[in-house]
Amino acid sequence: MRKKIVAGNWKMNTTLQEGIALAKDLKAALAGKTVKCDVVVCTPFISVASVAKEVEGSIIGVGAEDCSAQEKGAYTGEVAANMIASTGAKYVILGHSERRQYHGENNALLIQKLQQALANGLTPIFCVGEVKEERESNTFKSVIEGQMAALYTLSAADFAKCVVAYEPVWAIGTGLTATSEQAQEVHAFIRKSIADHYDAKVAEETSILYGGSCKGSNAPELFAQPDIDGGLIGGAALKADTFMPIIEAWK
Ligand code: PEP
Repeated sequence: MRKKIVAGNWKMNTTLQEGIALAKDLKAALAGKTVKCDVVVCTPFISVASVAKEVEGSIIGVGAEDCSAQEKGAYTGEVAANMIASTGAKYVILGHSERRQYHGENNALLIQKLQQALANGLTPIFCVGEVKEERESNTFKSVIEGQMAALYTLSAADFAKCVVAYEPVWAIGTGLTATSEQAQEVHAFIRKSIADHYDAKVAEETSILYGGSCKGSNAPELFAQPDIDGGLIGGAALKADTFMPIIEAWK
């Protein structure tokens, strides 16, 4: 059975103090509850270590939002995967559309980042997704296949350590959500593509998350789709009150 996961992406929000307070709120909201999915928060670098300490011993997993493509050394401002792992964090988001758009991240770079993450025991949450024009021109499947190609450089054993997140760029932070049918169509397409590149077992065991204006009100319908294994959540992850209903959408 593949894992169900609800992961928050705090993006460039929360000071250190606000991040710790948010982690505390989430820990308190989850205390004593039985949840049916893994819960992850991916925080700005500045908060990763403190949030990891704050939630230690709880069910909450912690991740970063990016890592360097390099192992170590003279790369001012970069944060290496082994530094992230040294905080107790277990996840790293790679290839988020905002990194692709504002930092020109491409497959060549993302392959290096994937290798760094995996070499340091981090689970990559690898984002793929089309922009509005690509959806409208019906080229989105080839765009996604092109982005998945970075993952397909991995051995089946390494690929199996990754989580995929389908995030239609036109739905991120816009309030526009892909309909559950649109999301399911792409998730099924991704799963078939994985089966074609590896095999049916690897495809069956890969968690594929949906991201893009997911919230408590639409999560139940999205998560009811057979190929949607959870969500990568931006805006609604910034408050325990709005994140919890998404977690609880897994009944
Ligand atoms: C995201 O950036 O990963 C995301 C899904 O954002 P939002 O939920 O705010 O659309």
